[in-house]
Amino acid sequence: MPTRCRWIGASAHLTLALLGMVIFASCGGSDGPRQPPNVIFISIDSLRPDHLGCYGYGRDTSPFIDSLAEGGVRFENAVSTTSWTLPSHAAMFTGLLGPTHGLIDNGKSLSDDHVTLAELLSDAGYHTAGFFGGPYLHPTFGLGQGFDVYESCMTTTPDAAGDDEVRSSAGTPDGPSHHDITGPRTREKVSSWAAGREAAAEPYFLFLHLWDVHYDFTPPAEYAQLFVDSNYAGPADGRLMSNPEIRPGMKPADLAHVLGLYDAEIRFTDDIIRDIFDDLDQRGMMENTLVILTSDHGEEFFEHGFKGHNKTLFDEVLRVPLIVSWQGEIDDRQVVGDQVQITDIMPTIIGFTGGPSSLVTQGHDLAPLLAGREMAPRDALSGLFIDGGDQRALRSNERKVFRFNELSPTVYFDLQSNPREDPAEVISPLTEHSQDRRERGELDLNSAIRRAYDLKSTLKLRPPNSIELTDDMRSALTDLGYLGTEDEDDG
Ligand SMILES: [Zn+2]
Repeated sequence: MPTRCRWIGASAHLTLALLGMVIFASCGGSDGPRQPPNVIFISIDSLRPDHLGCYGYGRDTSPFIDSLAEGGVRFENAVSTTSWTLPSHAAMFTGLLGPTHGLIDNGKSLSDDHVTLAELLSDAGYHTAGFFGGPYLHPTFGLGQGFDVYESCMTTTPDAAGDDEVRSSAGTPDGPSHHDITGPRTREKVSSWAAGREAAAEPYFLFLHLWDVHYDFTPPAEYAQLFVDSNYAGPADGRLMSNPEIRPGMKPADLAHVLGLYDAEIRFTDDIIRDIFDDLDQRGMMENTLVILTSDHGEEFFEHGFKGHNKTLFDEVLRVPLIVSWQGEIDDRQVVGDQVQITDIMPTIIGFTGGPSSLVTQGHDLAPLLAGREMAPRDALSGLFIDGGDQRALRSNERKVFRFNELSPTVYFDLQSNPREDPAEVISPLTEHSQDRRERGELDLNSAIRRAYDLKSTLKLRPPNSIELTDDMRSALTDLGYLGTEDEDDG
């Protein structure tokens, strides 16, 4: 098998050319060149870490994911850059924050002068394959850049669907994608792909976007009863956004039913991932394989009065699971408490696959933490700009500063006081001491925002391509709450 540690062809990408980046890197130590690993990168849409066994949840929702965590490193404090699918995946694929990559609202697609994770790995000689289950991952939104194979696993949208059709289905509450069960088709498609890769010489990069945990919560029949009261006869069901009975103040038994269906989707997805890994293992494709599992954002169940996601930047949507394993290379049973962000995923993968050390991202290679060493603590900047909004948050493990829009005051949450003042991000009366911390936090927030825009100017990346919204699409997105304010009464 040829060594694939050289980075070739990267000069084709504008960013690298602009920055004069190093395009060759050695992957070998004193023991000689090491074969670059296969990489499996899994994004489970809308998955809250606190609903996984390995993060302390009481239900058996995630036995396979738990085993991945036991075999590697679990990050206790991983956060997203936003609270919805499109800009979050753009951040994972570019290593850039929303204000910098610019794909922060509907009607946009990522410009092709971005350097994406799949492009870098493809340039390095990897075979790159992506399988996605939700509409925002469709190539029309620009996230398919760099993939040799990039397939939809949506069962309700034809593979040959035109761009308008896919865009119109993105985010429709009663539209087909939200009732879709995509896991089995993902499993089948990955298996077919793997059957053609068993004898391949080059390493592979496999990206899986698993959609079923995203609302609606409509698990297959054999999972639907796992975590709900079988005698439940109330008005709640898995239609989180479109059922008006799922609202603030609903009865605890009704909310418990919704959560039970959400948990069933997690278990269903966990079993799908197990099947995929078993299949790859039987084909001899799990040797020397780096695995990264995360989510694009969490989900709100009225902790602050809202449901779903893309409404706020509270921790219930901002925190995500992050698990990294690589048998024989990363020690097992590690738990890292340092705060990390999804922008770290790209530079971490690039670091392990011998990529350019001078790659410019807003993330950091987490190799030191994965090796049990220390890294300097870092703030995580997040933003939510959908439909012209401008929410901002800056978070550390100790505090969070947050503002709903440009004109609203900055709010300060103490996340780690003793006794904890705001473990659930409840605003407490400002004391003189906390007023001082709030003001310092606001300065930190503003300077972090400024740095993000400065980097955007430095990189000279073209803004996202505009997609013209049809009336039908605008109506569909408004129904979901992606546009307009109809759903604000829900929160
Ligand atoms: Zn999502």
